[in-house]
Amino acid sequence: MEKVDYDLVIIGGGPAGLTAGIYAARDRQDVLLLEKMAPGGQVLVTDWVDNYPGFPEGISGFDLCSKLSDQAKRFGLSIESNEVTSLKMEGTIKEIVLSDRTITCHAIILCPGASPRRLDVPGEDKFYGKGVSFCGTCDAPFYKDKVVAAVGGGDTAVQEAVYLTRFVKKVYLIHRRNEFRAAKILQERLFRNDKIECIWDSRVTSIDGFFNLEKVAVENVKTGEKRDLAVDGCFVWVGITPNTEFLGNSLETDDMGFIIANDHMETSIPGVFVAGDARRTPLRQIVTATGDGAVAAYSAEHYLTDLKSRMPEYSGAELN
Ligand code: NAP
Repeated sequence: MEKVDYDLVIIGGGPAGLTAGIYAARDRQDVLLLEKMAPGGQVLVTDWVDNYPGFPEGISGFDLCSKLSDQAKRFGLSIESNEVTSLKMEGTIKEIVLSDRTITCHAIILCPGASPRRLDVPGEDKFYGKGVSFCGTCDAPFYKDKVVAAVGGGDTAVQEAVYLTRFVKKVYLIHRRNEFRAAKILQERLFRNDKIECIWDSRVTSIDGFFNLEKVAVENVKTGEKRDLAVDGCFVWVGITPNTEFLGNSLETDDMGFIIANDHMETSIPGVFVAGDARRTPLRQIVTATGDGAVAAYSAEHYLTDLKSRMPEYSGAELN
């Protein structure tokens, strides 16, 4: 049988991928983790993580990512900065096309994470990066003493709206219903903050301005009433979409594109596992992503051991 470059390749270096890497490296597997940016994923731009067990005072997203990455490296995990452009996942030898070469392996753990969903309203593209933002930690300091809009009602919108108030004069938090879906403790913090005005039952219909962003147009979905809010910026936090374009249509997904897996993190293709936010799951937290990563690494190890036992002529990288 043809020799492969690695037994296992982990694609994505957020908490799910790094945890899978910790487990695989501790298990002395021949493993490579690929990450197109810096290890950490979305958590890297999360100001403060309050609900990851073991940190009673909380921890900054950046520090948590650094600790996860350092822990993985301590066990010898190889981490490479490179982007996967496409891959062939069927069969026992899988091919991963990178920006500069193609590598082969027997098993893959997909941890590509998810990206912020867009509003898809006029003006969003025009002002993207110049008034429209998806990242409070990155852009809030640009709005010192200004008035901004924020859109959404989940954990991200409610947590980040509160974070914005460290910098801005006022936040209009625009939500399409009259209650948030965010965790209650996050809502309590928000309702205590007098810099935030909630605009309920409303949707943003456009984002406008000449050179700079000047206003967002808002419509009440119950009464049809329209109004303009004069703002300097608009933060969009209306959910996430999985980073799975590079996979094509090869894997079974739900209608939102999240990858379907069983309890063992096995996808519809043997030898391909998924962990973290790109998986269809009822809860997306750092703790669930790390749990997914551990299970995926465990399952990949079983898959590789079984593969080797079924192929006595196996001559690829040594399995333990
Ligand atoms: P989310 O939980 O899916 O919430 C998205 C919010 O945006 C919902 O309130 C939704 O309204 C609203 N929305 C969706 N599409 C919209 C549209 N087109 N126009 C206006 N509003 C729209 O997404 P998220 O807040 O980004 O969180 C993603 C995941 O990360 C979640 O699993 C979350 O629990 C997790 N997370 C956890 C923490 C934490 O634990 N501290 C922090 C951040 C994120 P409806 O409510 O009406 O559907």
